[in-house]
Amino acid sequence: MPRTKSTAKRKQPTKVAGARTKKVTAKGGCLCGAVHYVVRGPMRGVVNCHCGQCRKWHGNVATYTSVKTADVEIAGKENVKWFRSSDSARRGFCRKCGSSLFWQWVGGETLGIAAGGLDRPTGLKTIRHIYTAKMHRGDYYRIADGLERLPGTMR
Ligand SMILES: [Zn+2]
Ligand SMILES: [Zn+2]
Repeated sequence: MPRTKSTAKRKQPTKVAGARTKKVTAKGGCLCGAVHYVVRGPMRGVVNCHCGQCRKWHGNVATYTSVKTADVEIAGKENVKWFRSSDSARRGFCRKCGSSLFWQWVGGETLGIAAGGLDRPTGLKTIRHIYTAKMHRGDYYRIADGLERLPGTMR
C-alpha cells in the first residue's frame, strides 16, 4: 500500500506539466471575488494613465501593469464583461461588482492589468505617467513624483 501511494505522489507533477507549472508572479481579482486571475510571467512596471477615458472608467487616474495575455489565467471568465472603449482598445470589468480590471489593444498579445486589483505584495513599482498633457490629464491633482512623463501615449 505505501508503495502505491508514493508512486501516485511522484506521478502527480507530470500531470500538470506544461505552461501551468511556470512560477506564479502575481495574483489578483475583483472586489466581490467573482473574478480571480493568476499571472505566470514577467510584468511591466506600473504606468499611470491620465487620459480622459481612463479617468472616467476608473474614477481616477489609471494604474496599469502589462503582461503577455498567454501568461494570464482567469477564473470566473464568464463574469468579465468587455467594453469596447475605442476602435483600438477594450476594457474588462467584473459584471457583478463593477471592478475595473483589464485594458487591452484589440488584436494585441498583451493584457493591461489594473494594478489596484493585484494582491500584495505586487513587487512592482510605478515607472511613468502617460497622457500628462494639460488637454488630457485631470485638473484636480498635481504630478509631483519626478517620474518620466509623456504628454501622450507610448505608441
Ligand atoms: Zn466582482
Ligand atoms: Zn488612459
